[in-house]
This record gives sequence, structure tokens and C-alpha cells, in this order.
Amino acid sequence: MANRSSRHFLAERIRQAVARHEAQIRDFTAALVAVPTENPPGRRYQECARLIANQLKRLNFPAQMLRVPQRYLAGGGQSEPRWCLLSTLGDGPRALYFHGHYDVVPAAHPRQFRPALKNGVLAGRGSADMKGGIAAMIYAMAVVKELRLPLDGRIGLVLVPDEETGGAGGSRYLLETGRLGRDGIAMFTPEPTSGVIWNACRGAISMRVVVRGKPAHVGLHFRGVNAFERAIELVHAFEALKRRVARRQTRFAIAPAAARRSVLLLGGQAAGGTNFNAVPAEFSFTVDRRINPEESHAREKRALLAVIERFRRRGFRIDVDIFQEEPAAGFPAKEPVALAMAESARAITGRAPAFEMCPGLLEIRFYAECGVPAFAFGPGKLEVAHGPSESVVLKNVYEFAAIYALAAARVLAPKSRR
Ligand SMILES: [Zn+2]
Repeated sequence: MANRSSRHFLAERIRQAVARHEAQIRDFTAALVAVPTENPPGRRYQECARLIANQLKRLNFPAQMLRVPQRYLAGGGQSEPRWCLLSTLGDGPRALYFHGHYDVVPAAHPRQFRPALKNGVLAGRGSADMKGGIAAMIYAMAVVKELRLPLDGRIGLVLVPDEETGGAGGSRYLLETGRLGRDGIAMFTPEPTSGVIWNACRGAISMRVVVRGKPAHVGLHFRGVNAFERAIELVHAFEALKRRVARRQTRFAIAPAAARRSVLLLGGQAAGGTNFNAVPAEFSFTVDRRINPEESHAREKRALLAVIERFRRRGFRIDVDIFQEEPAAGFPAKEPVALAMAESARAITGRAPAFEMCPGLLEIRFYAECGVPAFAFGPGKLEVAHGPSESVVLKNVYEFAAIYALAAARVLAPKSRR
């Protein structure tokens, strides 16, 4: 009983502390949205990282800006430098990570970088995905510090660019240099999850298959090799594989039932030929395989490549370009840190969030690679993220600042108080 009322008291203190910072949280979110960190191509990263670093310093937190060496960047060359930003509160060998990305998908219109406030809603590119969430996490740290909540361990803030294009210049770099997830007991990232907690995401193998033939004019068609007709045979083989793949269903929660099936999408892009009256010398199509967390990435990749190999042995000339490859990740909803986050959300909002699998890729996969349980839970709505009228409800941003602070206080509570 005493325990429950002291928890209630803590939630209330945190809520009041956040309330005193509402104007700052709002203004900081708007300032972040006003920096057009569009990715691709990855613009204004240094400016945005500096803006965040200065805010951290004003709140008396350390801020370390790391410039990512060119060799970690896919393509490299002409791109602007990538910057990661690290901060921390507390010390000791247990780290709870607050992880965010400050890049945004390109705007539908330049207006999206002029943040607009109306009726408690802040509109602008990145407001939901995920600059509002970054502000919430930073002010969660500020409140934990201000209230001197005892921590057995530390909160590690990790902010990266390049999430929207695979993470090479952000999380992948931190992982490869041993900086990601060090001493981690858990990670939370404020993706726009529309009120649920994502505890899993699918992996991906995305590739372009180019089938080569030999060109010839229609009158001399017998001298050519028809790349389109060859591609059709190959597509039929992939369809057979797709039928086997679709029989496997994930046990992670995702609605509707059809969404549980493992995914093989054929022909998202397809192209070839030069004219109606010429034998096509080339035909290409994409294969997008989205792998459930329960499946073996290596085995599924072998199955895809085996289809290609079979046709190569028959003399087909086929090139394959795997342009995206990312592992799946999934953590039990019963994980104590996940339950602490769900309980904190209930204490602040009155509603306990459900756990679901994310339909897309998440940076929780990088933490999965170093064995740190990771979850996405943020103030934005998935329905508006990446869209032409992206926005975030400020009340949700404030609530999440309180939720993150409360969850951190619980997860990192000294043993006697846990
Ligand atoms: Zn995002």
C-alpha cells in the first residue's frame, strides 16, 4: 500500500515538474522542426546537433558531438558530415538509453519547416517523427535531475542522424565503434507509435534482380534472347517461394491477422525494354522480403539466392543488387523494463499501452545486435508521420516527458527502492 501511494506521489511530482517546463518543451520542439534536417540527402545536421548540444548545456548536461568519419558513410564523397550526439545523467555500470534520430524525411512543401502552432498542436516536418520525442526525452532527463531522483546507474542520451536511410552515418557507426548500447539494460526510442509500444520489427532483404537477354528487331526476333520472358519464369519461381513464406505467421501482435504473415513483395518496381518492336535485352524487378523476428535471416537469404542460382545454372544471365539488408528484432512484452514503461504510461495518462510489432524497420535492431532489450514508444502518431501535414499534439509531448522520467526513475531505482 505504502509502495503504491509513494509511486503515485512520484508520478505527481514528475507531472508537476514537467508542467513548469511546458513552454520550453514547446519552443525547443519548434526550434528543432525549423532546422530542415532532410534525409535524403542529409542536410543541416551540424546545425541541428549544435542546437541540441546547446540546449543540453543550458540544462547542465554534458554534450559530446561526434563527427562520423567518411569511411562509414555509404556513397561518401559529396555528402555533408554526419554528427552523433551523446549525453548522460548519473553514473555507474547500468545504462538506460534514450535513443532518437534527428533526421527527417524530405518535406512535402518548404512550409513544413516553418513550425505552426494552433490549438495545442504543433505542425511541421519531424514534429511527430521524432523531434517532439527528442524534446520529451531531454526534458525527462532535466526533470529527473531537477528532482534529484536517485539513480542506480545512468541515463544515456544517444541522438543520431541517417535513421531514415538505414543508419550508416548514425547508429551503424556507433555500433561498429563499440559506442552503442554499452552497459545497456534497456533502450527506448520515441518513434511515433500512436499510443502502443513496439517491441518488435521485421527485418528486410530488398534487392533488384536484373535479367539479361540479347536485343534484336522484331523482324529478327529469333536472333535475340527475350529478357522479359526469362524474367517471367524467374518471377514464377519467386511466387512459389512467396506461397511458402506467407504460411509463416509471427507470434508478435500485429493487426489485422493478414499482417502476421511473413512478407515477400514482388515487382514493387519493374522495368525493361526499349520499344514495343524490339526484343528486350534487359528486364529488372525488385524483391522485397520482410522477415518475421522468429525466422532465420541467413536461411531466408539463402532461399532467395537459391532461386537465382537455379536459373543461372540453366544459363540465365542474372545480376542481383541487394540494396537493403537489415536484421529483424523482437523482445518479450514481459521484459521488466518494458512493463515499467507501460506502468509509467498508465500512471501518467490513465491508459496502459498495448504491445505490437512495428510494420517497418526500427533502430531497436542495432541494440538487439548488442543484446540490449529495446522498445519504441513516442508521442507522435504513425498516421501523420512522413505525411504532408505531419504534426504532434503538445499535450502528448508533455505527457511523454513525464512518462520517460517516471520510467527512468523506476528502472534505475536503487535496489532498496525497486
Ligand atoms: Zn522515425
